[in-house]
Amino acid sequence: MSQTYVTGFPRIGEKRELKFALEEYWAGKTDFEALKAVAKTLRNRHWNYQKERHIDFISCNDFSLYDIMLDTTVMLGAIPPRFENIDDKTDRYFAMARGDDDHAAMEMTKWFNTNYHYIVPELHANMNFSHVNISKIAEEFIEAKAQGVHPKINLVGPLTFIFLSNAVDGSDLFNLFDAVVTAYAKVLYAISSLGENIVVQFDEPLFAKTLEPKFLSLLKIAYERLGVVSSNLKIAVVTYFDRANEAVEILGNCPIWGIGLDFVYGEENLDALLHVNGKMLIAGVIDGRNVWKNNVSKTYNLLEKIGEKIDPKQIILSTSCSLLHVPFSTQFEEKLTPEVKSRLSFALEKLEELEQINTLWEKKEKPEISACTQKVPSLKSSAIAYTRSAYATRFALQQKALNLPLFPTTTIGSFPQTKETRAVRNAFKKGEITREAYEASLKESIKKCVELQEALGLDVLVHGEFERNDMVEYFGELLEGFAFSENGWVQSYGSRCVKPPLLYGSVNRKQPLSVDWIVYAQSLTDKPMKGMLTGPVTILNWSFVRNDIPKSEVAFEVARAIAEEVDELQRHDIKIIQVDEAAFKEGYPLREEKIKAYEKWAVESFKASIGIAWDQTQIHTHMCYSNFNDIIDTIERMDADVITIETSRSGNKLLKVFQKANYKAQIGPGVYDIHSPRVPSVEEMSEQIKTFLQVLPKEQLWINPDCGLKTRGWSETRAALTNMIKAVHLAR
Ligand code: GLN
Ligand code: ZN
Repeated sequence: MSQTYVTGFPRIGEKRELKFALEEYWAGKTDFEALKAVAKTLRNRHWNYQKERHIDFISCNDFSLYDIMLDTTVMLGAIPPRFENIDDKTDRYFAMARGDDDHAAMEMTKWFNTNYHYIVPELHANMNFSHVNISKIAEEFIEAKAQGVHPKINLVGPLTFIFLSNAVDGSDLFNLFDAVVTAYAKVLYAISSLGENIVVQFDEPLFAKTLEPKFLSLLKIAYERLGVVSSNLKIAVVTYFDRANEAVEILGNCPIWGIGLDFVYGEENLDALLHVNGKMLIAGVIDGRNVWKNNVSKTYNLLEKIGEKIDPKQIILSTSCSLLHVPFSTQFEEKLTPEVKSRLSFALEKLEELEQINTLWEKKEKPEISACTQKVPSLKSSAIAYTRSAYATRFALQQKALNLPLFPTTTIGSFPQTKETRAVRNAFKKGEITREAYEASLKESIKKCVELQEALGLDVLVHGEFERNDMVEYFGELLEGFAFSENGWVQSYGSRCVKPPLLYGSVNRKQPLSVDWIVYAQSLTDKPMKGMLTGPVTILNWSFVRNDIPKSEVAFEVARAIAEEVDELQRHDIKIIQVDEAAFKEGYPLREEKIKAYEKWAVESFKASIGIAWDQTQIHTHMCYSNFNDIIDTIERMDADVITIETSRSGNKLLKVFQKANYKAQIGPGVYDIHSPRVPSVEEMSEQIKTFLQVLPKEQLWINPDCGLKTRGWSETRAALTNMIKAVHLAR
């Protein structure tokens, strides 16, 4: 009889209860006891849901008031010294997460290739990890016991912990390995006194990446040691997000109880089964990070393949990763069409799916091939011709059409989104004001924004994006093939949640997406107005994408819709169009051998979205990061005329990559950081321009902020842009 296992469960709550409790606590409206009470209620409720679905392995310590990496930092006694002056543990915890008046917050970054952000541990060479502390774990464990759950205990694994950390003193993270493993051994020893036969799950997603052999040797040392701390513990090492074949070869020979593998995003794990070597196999077969109903017959076939190599008694059926990455339940969705709703499965529904496949598997009841969700014909890449001439030809034509000065100035698209802007949009969405009133108010904002840009003396203007709440959601709402849940929230970081669009069907552009706004904005000025669109790769990377056809095909459908918009804009005499690919890099696979395939469809679909542009139409793109080392060839192949990027915090170090690659097109490296309200001085930006010119020919350089201004206030925006323009005049 096989068993079921859930890697981890969402903690934010079915109605984001944790978010609201945290924010009330932070605002000083409630005390910590009240926050703790909400947390406890949520944990109990979440355990109950899993109990109802007869899940055999239910986690504790998957809950967190902010982030599990931060909790691990606390557990290991790895508090950065700069926070040691805060005595109150709770104040210190939240200061580490969010900063306070005297402390900058710890850094936060994306958890592998998900949209979840973790707090990056700050380690240094002489940290001794002598104060390990399992009080949070013990509390949750005892709580679960009282609920009749004998929980497994989730811990971030030592290798993933160390190598996702920052060594703030510049020391080598490898040197900390011994100390960290010793601390984990102490943690295990303490845990072993909590009860009998406790399963401890070590999350080691690091091993789904392409790694150097030295990591694997450390894996061996770590688990040979941790596996024998107590005979009272069953150690499971769980990997996810991709294949982990190399790690399995080593873990199969470690004194551990179980190995967790993701067969949804790493089907190649099937080739590693020989090395499981009698351990329990925690088989991740239910997709933990996408929202579509499980294809039962496909999963059954997968299990049959696993069953050929592993004794069924040793197989535990599991989610592919923690359910943290999907929304809570579809049961609160009242507005989705039955067509869409019936295809969805969020965390609670996935528990049912786990139970369902387990029952079928146990009874050896092979499901009929399910009447597959209706397939829609999609446009093949060949259908979109890329007809643009070589860059040099385009450059000449564009110069003639645009007549821009040396060091053209522009912004990335959005201008400050104030409370008022958002209030008007919300009122319109709720039907409280008419469309006419809403549009009039947007036109007013656009007009003011254009006037400001003219007054500042910018060369290429934007309309300001006041009609957009979010750069993906806005387009999704206008395109056919997207749906929006009411309550499909996924934790992004701390109390922050996102509600990704559901890209469920054939994507079609039934109406113009931005033309009216851009044409209106252009009518207000003689300067070129830049059209502003979001690219296909970013739209896909920030949505839940249907999985019944290949992603590349979905990307081309989106690309075709964007291309139609590009064409209509240029036919309305818009001479510059920006197609943002803010999330291009986020979508990169964890495994090197999969990168080529990603780059292929990503570049091709981007090109499909701009291929329709005339040679004299100038295509810009924007990317929200700066590390182009590995991907410069790919960026080149995208063939944009101008790329704006985020290098404002690194001088020209990162620009050198472009120089080395002999990159020919134009670049706007971002002269100042928009992520802070600080107004940079003219001198500072002049210096920036000088450093840029050390590596870039002057004809290639654009001057702009490093990202959109929507999170900034008007006064600092005005001041910063004024200084930017002054610096450009000096440079000219
Ligand atoms: N055009 C968008 C803006 O300015 C780009 C945002 C982004 O890069 N995330 O807001
Ligand atoms: Zn950006």
